[in-house]
Amino acid sequence: MFSSSRGGEERNGQKRKEPTLRAVVHSRIMAKEQEVAPAERLAVEGGIASDESAVAEPEIEANEDRVEEHVNEPDSNAGAEGDNGETGCPIWMGYDNALRCGRTLHATPDGIDEQPVCLMHSKDPCKQSGPLYKTFWREFERTLEAAGEGEARFEQFVFPQLFIVGTKFQAVCQFSEATFTQYANFAGATFSQFANFAGATFTQNADFSGASFTQGARFFGTTFTQDADFDGVNFTKEADFETATFSQGAKFTCTTFEQRASFVDATFMYETVFYDATFIHDAIFTRTAFTRGADFSEATFAQTAKFEDTVFRGTAYWSATFAQTAKFEDTVFHETAYWHSCCFLGQAEFRSTKFKPQGKDMPSAIFALTKFSKPGEIVFDDVDLSRALFHNCDVSQVWFSPSAHWAERKGNRGLAVFEETIPLEQEVVEGLQRNGQRDYRAVAQIYQQLKKNYDSRLDYWTANEFHFGEMEMKRLAVPTDGRLLWPRQWLHRNLSFVAWYKYASDYGNSYRKPMLWLLGVLLAAALLFPIPGLELRQAGSGNTASSARVTYGSVWDRQNSWTNKFWTEAKLIGKSGITAIDTATFQRTPEYAPAYPWGRVVGIFETLLTSSLFALFLLAIRRQFRR
Ligand SMILES: [Zn+2]
Repeated sequence: MFSSSRGGEERNGQKRKEPTLRAVVHSRIMAKEQEVAPAERLAVEGGIASDESAVAEPEIEANEDRVEEHVNEPDSNAGAEGDNGETGCPIWMGYDNALRCGRTLHATPDGIDEQPVCLMHSKDPCKQSGPLYKTFWREFERTLEAAGEGEARFEQFVFPQLFIVGTKFQAVCQFSEATFTQYANFAGATFSQFANFAGATFTQNADFSGASFTQGARFFGTTFTQDADFDGVNFTKEADFETATFSQGAKFTCTTFEQRASFVDATFMYETVFYDATFIHDAIFTRTAFTRGADFSEATFAQTAKFEDTVFRGTAYWSATFAQTAKFEDTVFHETAYWHSCCFLGQAEFRSTKFKPQGKDMPSAIFALTKFSKPGEIVFDDVDLSRALFHNCDVSQVWFSPSAHWAERKGNRGLAVFEETIPLEQEVVEGLQRNGQRDYRAVAQIYQQLKKNYDSRLDYWTANEFHFGEMEMKRLAVPTDGRLLWPRQWLHRNLSFVAWYKYASDYGNSYRKPMLWLLGVLLAAALLFPIPGLELRQAGSGNTASSARVTYGSVWDRQNSWTNKFWTEAKLIGKSGITAIDTATFQRTPEYAPAYPWGRVVGIFETLLTSSLFALFLLAIRRQFRR
């Protein structure tokens, strides 16, 4: 039985309540011996009383004359005690099945009910309309009225079409394991006391829109086979939807949960809407499954919002406000999660959260325009952010743990954000376009923030990788209007200062690159100097030395053997190399000097290049090994 799944603590509480309940029932029976209440008389007329003599007769044939016979019967409202219910409906009701229904058995056509039961518990389709329908509702009302502010027991009732719009239920309503075979319309109903729909089944649409649950509502394990509408419902006390199943649409638009709302292990198999819902207390969606889209737009989570182990198979919309704590540990998003314009006023934990939409070009999580009021308390730990979008959202202080995974840049050149590569035709990247082109300045901003972020946590290695991205975006941020657009764009991309910075040292990230360039420049100078010639400038050799100019041609001796020719040229290049180093290192008294004028021009260029490259080398070293 369903009741067996209740927690032990709760069960004990209920057991303790039992004697009081029985006392009430007993006093009610005593009272009835003196007089028959009008409502009860009505019911008896309807044939619901559990007298043996009435069993064989259809309820509708009951007549006034038999009223007296039923006076002494136990109140069918609360069911009879287990020990004297040999005759009536055998369905067990109440906590721990302590009470038996005991109502008159209903003559159901063969094969519909597993055992003979009363009209209320019967699956007889004839009660969908006509006299049986009326009788059913008369008995329902009688039960409700008789309960007063006590418990109205409708457990395991099989309801025909239900239309009790705006009804005010004063009693504790026990609908657990009831079956609503047709449309169940509770719109605008007010439940002044606890309403228990645990284990109930709604075969058709269930409409609770605008209803008020004043003292707690229990939909534990309830099955909604068709649409469930809880729009505008006010749950003043706890709302328990644990393990409930919503097979079709579930609507909680503008619903207010004033106390804890629990959807633990619930299953939403179709579109689910919590638009503008307000969770004043904790909202627990642990292990909830959303098979289709889930819309939490404009929702407010004033306290803790738990979505741990929750699975979202459809798109999830989160432009909500999380005022305190939001937990998304081990949450799985199979489609895009839109955090667009979401507000995190407190802490949020994305630990081992899985963002894994199928499409390769599809963003996994869109945090664009998301507001983090306490960025230091936003945690991304062990999360794949390779397809997450963070543009227009300050991430400079968000805590990305070392296991937060970013996309790799092509050619093993560090990390990249998805804004740089996401195809622009998607609607979500509208904010990333300027004049129809990717707004590299906006992308650069994200890199800047990430660089700042990792820098501040002394993770210079990762910061450097984002620095590369930032500079790369600066290089790609070409002019977008004006004359001669194309040549200017080309020049910016390939020959601008930033471009040269990249060629020379990967924007300061590489110290090998400037070193290699430096050696290259020295070699080039060494090879170039002998063309205009080298002048011997030995100290003390006097003016005669100035005339001793050697070039490739001057050392070429036709008479000599090839080996000797080669060696003289090699010696010349060797001397030239020393000259190149002398020039690069500003030696004042070199042995040889480049010949005037072209050799000097080459020398000047060499000096400029080598000193710049050396500076870049030092900067890169500093960047790599700073502390
Ligand atoms: Zn019954």
